[in-house]
Amino acid sequence: MKKPNILIVEDEESILEMIALNLHHNNFQPLRAINAENAESFLNKNKVDLILLDWMLPGMDGIDFLKRLRTNSSTKSIPVIMLTAKSEELDKIEGFEVGADDYLAKPFSQKELVARIKAILRRKNPESVLDKIEHGSLQVNPDSHEVFYKSKFIKLGPTEFKLIFLLCMNKNRVLSREIIVDKIWNNESEIDARTIDVHVKRLRSTLKSYGIENSIDTIRGAGYKLADEMNFE
Ligand code: CA
Repeated sequence: MKKPNILIVEDEESILEMIALNLHHNNFQPLRAINAENAESFLNKNKVDLILLDWMLPGMDGIDFLKRLRTNSSTKSIPVIMLTAKSEELDKIEGFEVGADDYLAKPFSQKELVARIKAILRRKNPESVLDKIEHGSLQVNPDSHEVFYKSKFIKLGPTEFKLIFLLCMNKNRVLSREIIVDKIWNNESEIDARTIDVHVKRLRSTLKSYGIENSIDTIRGAGYKLADEMNFE
C-alpha cells in the first residue's frame, strides 16, 4: 500500500528534519516545505494526505495559509494539524475557527504527533492507517512490513508484501487484476496480467513453504481473493 504523504511546512530546519525522520520511521512519506509559498507550489503538483503546518512562518503565516487552503476546492478537505509555540496557546481557538483539524503546541513528543496523525487519517480513511491485520494465524504488519504465520516470520519481497497486504485488506472480496495494478503499481507503469500472475504464484509458493496450502483463490474471469480464514489456521 502507498504510504500516506504528509507535507511538513516548517521554517526551522532542525524541527523539519526531526519530524521528517520520525514520519519516515513510522511508515509515512514526509514531504518538506519551508514556507507557505513553497507548500503551495508543492500542493499544486502532488497529492497530499495531511499537512503539518507551523504557525509562525516567514512571509505568509500558518493561519493565513490555512485560510487560503480552506477556500481552495482542491485543498479544502486536506486535514491540517497546526504546530505552534506554547506562548501562542491562547490563540488556539483561532486555529480551529479557520479549519485546523488538530493542534499541537511545541515542544511536542514525536510519539504524540504520530498518534494524532494516525487518528485523523483513520477517521478519514480507515484503510489508510492500520496497526496490524490478522487472518487466521496470519499476521500482517503494515508499519514494519512484516508478515508472520503462527508467530514465524515470513520473508517476502516488496511486491509480494503489498499483494498479501492488499488481499488481507480486502478479505471476502475478489480483486480484479486492474485493481491490483492500480493499488500496487499505482497505475504508473505498463503492467500486464502475466506480471501479476507471476507475483501471485510467487506469493502462493512462499506461503506454501510455511505450511499454508491454499492461500489465494483464483476466481476465473474475475481475479484473486484471499482464501478462507480456516486455510490460515
Ligand atoms: Ca516557525
